[in-house]
Amino acid sequence: MNPARRHEIFRRWREANPHPKSDLEYTTPFELLVAVILSAQATDKGVNAATHRLFPVANTPAAIAALGEDGLAPYIQTIGLWRAKAKNVVATCRLLLERHGGAVPAAREALESLPGVGRKTANVVLNIAFGQPTIAVDTHNFRVANRTGIAPGRTVEAVERALVKVVPAEFMHHAHHWLILHGRYTCKAQKPACPDCLISDLCEYRHKTPDPLAEAAAPRPAAGKARAKKPATNPSAPKAVPATKTGATKTAAVQATATQGAATGGAATRGAATKAAVTRAATKTAATKTAATRPAAKPPATTGPAPVRKAARRGT
Ligand code: SF4
Repeated sequence: MNPARRHEIFRRWREANPHPKSDLEYTTPFELLVAVILSAQATDKGVNAATHRLFPVANTPAAIAALGEDGLAPYIQTIGLWRAKAKNVVATCRLLLERHGGAVPAAREALESLPGVGRKTANVVLNIAFGQPTIAVDTHNFRVANRTGIAPGRTVEAVERALVKVVPAEFMHHAHHWLILHGRYTCKAQKPACPDCLISDLCEYRHKTPDPLAEAAAPRPAAGKARAKKPATNPSAPKAVPATKTGATKTAAVQATATQGAATGGAATRGAATKAAVTRAATKTAATKTAATRPAAKPPATTGPAPVRKAARRGT
């Protein structure tokens, strides 16, 4: 993807959502840190439900350290892997008190040394809480970066490196939010919402979800070809007109045949020619059905003028 296209993608995201926010709810760097630790393999909604109960009671390292694992458990038991997370959160709080005076450090190394804090969590905290130019790569922005072509990579680390390198500086602070939100709500894993996508014309994904309206409006060449290939024993015969309806219906084919018959037969009238054409059509379709419903019809001549004259002579 060229830089101009990449710039336009982020420009559109910024225009649509100038101040993107995480779905996780927090009010301080410490609350953000705890929420991100709890969010591993859990939904933001589930984490928010737990922290809504926890933070009014304990939202500092000292308060959560005082709760201990047993005291913390009732607040987070609805979250997956809660036992391990309770252990990590309490241990992190104790280390924050011991090493950082109860504050969240703004350095990657210090953050990654805390229990339950990996590279992704550190990137989130550094970016959101401290405004550093980092991009946390999760399953959503890994997918978006690869599908769109913004920053393709085989691993999370490769995508992170590519994003940090190619995202224009003016978009860096909010880039990871735009990518995550786009992946979560539009460029979904199973069926990306390409017809509603803001950057569909810029995205380089080869297998976009088709627009159902455009599909419905498009001509169907395959069906047309199939009809064209169907062998027709007599292309000029009004084979589309059922025998039982021929008396009341004048199809274009019948009219064309009638016109031709009148032109070649000379004395034949338009009505007579029509009837002759109808007779040919009826007898060329299902023979038994035709015989039962139209006993007067006789096998037509193989040439055009003869049945026309015959019908004309009958005065019909
Ligand atoms: S066009 Fe489709 S594949 Fe591309 S970013 Fe949008 S939703 Fe994702």
